[in-house]
Amino acid sequence: MLKQLKSIIHTITLRLFPSKTAPCLICKHDSPIKETAYHRTFYECPNCSLIFTLDYDIYTIQKGMGMEGSWTGPGGGGFREYWLAAFLSKELELKSILLFGTGNTITFRRLKEEGYNVAGCDITPELVESRKKEFGDDSFFYPHMMPQDRRFDIIICVEVFEHFVEPRQSFNYLTSILSDNGIICGTTNFYLGGSIVDSNNPGYMSHIRHIIYWSKESLKNIAKQYNLETSCFEMISPGSVIPDEKFGQLWPNKRVFFLHKAIYNDFFSKLFLKNPILPIDKP
Ligand SMILES: [Zn+2]
Repeated sequence: MLKQLKSIIHTITLRLFPSKTAPCLICKHDSPIKETAYHRTFYECPNCSLIFTLDYDIYTIQKGMGMEGSWTGPGGGGFREYWLAAFLSKELELKSILLFGTGNTITFRRLKEEGYNVAGCDITPELVESRKKEFGDDSFFYPHMMPQDRRFDIIICVEVFEHFVEPRQSFNYLTSILSDNGIICGTTNFYLGGSIVDSNNPGYMSHIRHIIYWSKESLKNIAKQYNLETSCFEMISPGSVIPDEKFGQLWPNKRVFFLHKAIYNDFFSKLFLKNPILPIDKP
């Protein structure tokens, strides 16, 4: 209770009295205010282009998304994770899959039932404990508590990257559990220029747990430091073509990203020529 209260006071103080500059969450470069949007102060790093806010509530973030954990509520969503897992394992014959920050969707169970080599992880204790009980200790984990020798060919982070409080640490960790030619992929909304206030209601960066507003440039900048290339795509829904089921809106900033070794450049360039909007049509 005291921790929660302290965290709320900290957030309110930052909102009322934001500092004029803040150290970039990735490169520590002194970053000026870019914009005040949704009553939050956003900074933009002149060195690596990262757009971020400091006025998050760490208590809320550390608690995780609970059993709801998804766009469409408990048990809903997860189609993007499923599509990415099935697509990459089929097209590139990648085998072991980690659903990182998967929440309470049916995807983990579905992939297991279909015979995929899949593990899951999340920060919500009640979710992790119930999955461990059902599927065993080697199937579901807390992040950062994976067995040391475990490596994954596909790490799927759907709507996870925008929550990173310490993106450098998160990248260190994700790349440490990635196999040599493994791929990190997921979705997030991209900053495409102009105001941070986007066309959606609620706006993407109004969400209290959203801390980083990635762009292709900032994602490329950090991926490059881990010897990874960045390939990005739009998607059908929730994205550029069909309105989403919950809000009835297009989400034109939504992007699917793949962080991969240069050996896959050709694969992703050809895919982009054929399908710049991936046929992902459910949340
Ligand atoms: Zn930076």
